[in-house]
Amino acid sequence: MVLKDTYDAIIIGAGHNGLTLGAYLARSGLEVLVLERRHEEGGGLCSEEVTQAGFVHNIHANYHTFVDMAPPVGDLDVRGHGIEYVRPEVQMASIFDDGTALTIHTDMDKTLASMARFSEKDAATFERLYGEAHGFIDLLLGTLMYQPPLNVKDLTKALGTFGVEDRSEFLSVKLRRETINQFLDRHFENDRIKAHLAFHGAVCSYTNDVMGLAIGYPLLIGKIDNWHLCVGGSHRLAHALWRDLAQHGGVMWSDAEVTNILVDGGRAVGVRTADGIELQARKLVASTVSVEQTFLEFIDPKEIPEEFAHKVKTEVVHKDWSLFSVHLAMRTFPEYIAAEFDPDVNRAWVVNLGIESTGQLDADWKTIRAGGLVDPRPNAAVNSLYDPVDAPPGCTTGLLRQFAPFALADGGEGAWDEMGRWYGQKCIDTWRRYAPNLTDDEIIDWSVFTPHDIARKLPNMVRGDWMMGEISLANMLDQRPLPELGEYRTPVEGLYMAGSTQHPHGFITFGPGYNALQVIADDLGIEKWWQQI
Ligand SMILES: Cc1cc2nc3c(=O)[nH]c(=O)nc-3n(C[C@H](O)[C@H](O)[C@H](O)COP(=O)(O)OP(=O)(O)OC[C@H]3O[C@@H](n4cnc5c(N)ncnc54)[C@H](O)[C@@H]3O)c2cc1C
Repeated sequence: MVLKDTYDAIIIGAGHNGLTLGAYLARSGLEVLVLERRHEEGGGLCSEEVTQAGFVHNIHANYHTFVDMAPPVGDLDVRGHGIEYVRPEVQMASIFDDGTALTIHTDMDKTLASMARFSEKDAATFERLYGEAHGFIDLLLGTLMYQPPLNVKDLTKALGTFGVEDRSEFLSVKLRRETINQFLDRHFENDRIKAHLAFHGAVCSYTNDVMGLAIGYPLLIGKIDNWHLCVGGSHRLAHALWRDLAQHGGVMWSDAEVTNILVDGGRAVGVRTADGIELQARKLVASTVSVEQTFLEFIDPKEIPEEFAHKVKTEVVHKDWSLFSVHLAMRTFPEYIAAEFDPDVNRAWVVNLGIESTGQLDADWKTIRAGGLVDPRPNAAVNSLYDPVDAPPGCTTGLLRQFAPFALADGGEGAWDEMGRWYGQKCIDTWRRYAPNLTDDEIIDWSVFTPHDIARKLPNMVRGDWMMGEISLANMLDQRPLPELGEYRTPVEGLYMAGSTQHPHGFITFGPGYNALQVIADDLGIEKWWQQI
């Protein structure tokens, strides 16, 4: 590949948001260059053989929730580029210490039957809330996720216009003043059902004890059975996006770490890489990395207002917990004791282990926020149940995910290098308590990926912040990540923010890249040939 020295658009970071924006712009006729620090595209879409050859492990994103409705999946012909998604029939289970289990299915009748074994009243409530969410989920998604953000008041007004406020209490003012715990207490009676729903919220990064996050919960109930698995590993999605970019004349250059954004006369005109190569941008530069990298590291302080730089230093908020992962290469599938109660747990893609109540989760958050390690209660995913190619014949992969602090109270983030293997063994021991067939003989190899590893691998995930910005009411919609950046434009003309720092937030949503595109198209007069929500 011969690199030119000038492009219409230069995009920093080849995660799914950078690739999405790049592919749309390339399809719109712009000369596009996407620069990636790592040796390959993908960012959080990363699948690697970290245990043994032939075992494909998703190091970051494993669960894809929005692929059936995100506009880029159709616009960029993601499936045409060879992507196959499976929506596992038994999506998730919670196993409790007395050997009982709750299972969530793609067949809602089965989910309701499982819930009714714990509380018939709660099953009926869940059915009502799920039905309400589905009544306007497309409207919610369109209004919330796939257009530049409204502010909270305008959003409520807009939904009122559509009659949503009348149809249910969803998105009412009350939700903005509630935690998920309070929302659950108001609607449900059974501790384990509440624990399951709260845990599902937390896995989606909506922490159950944070004020105001009840606002997102309708979406989380409506999407509870919509988790998809990317066959062959999540990285295949990144590869599909790259193919689309490349087929339309765009270029992705890997091993190209951006160190500077070049600004001339208040306008972004290019970038410099760690190798000292300068590349010019005729029309725009878009950053999909962190706010801190973009404005405190890449840009000469003289080029941005002092007050804004101060805000970036002091007001950009990150998640106060991160994720610890154990990746396993195994010879068997787990056989749970709880299968005696509900045989479907052995077919559940994801199993939450031993979360008995929201109170227990709250206590864990307290410990984790203080830098402590809790007795592990991880969730366990076995992709091989639904992915025929992620492990050699007769073998399986396993993934344990545990909420954990970025910096340990004793030793900071560096202490993870000492503690990781020890904590990983504790997570495996927990899994084995519920699935005793997972003996040492059945586990061929395993490796850990700590919160510190997240930040080392992807420096844009500051302090292991896998959402690239706290999920809280104050850091949502047009306030995310700062009011000055909420519309994807920045104080530097021609420089846009297009990654997960922006609305809607992290996850494989394609939202930030797609929404930044709308703003860029408006500014540059690009014809919007794509479907719009
Ligand atoms: C452990 C873990 C588990 C997760 N699980 C899930 C899940 O199951 N489901 C889900 O939907 N989401 C999950 N996520 C979140 C998901 O991975 C992110 O939300 C998503 O990857 C963000 O996409 P992005 O394009 O905005 O950023 P990224 O994917 O992070 O892409 C940014 C890119 O920029 C590159 N970069 C950084 N600095 C520079 C530089 N100076 N120059 C050039 N390039 C640079 C990075 O290498 C990276 O490739 C998880 C994240 C983690 C860490």
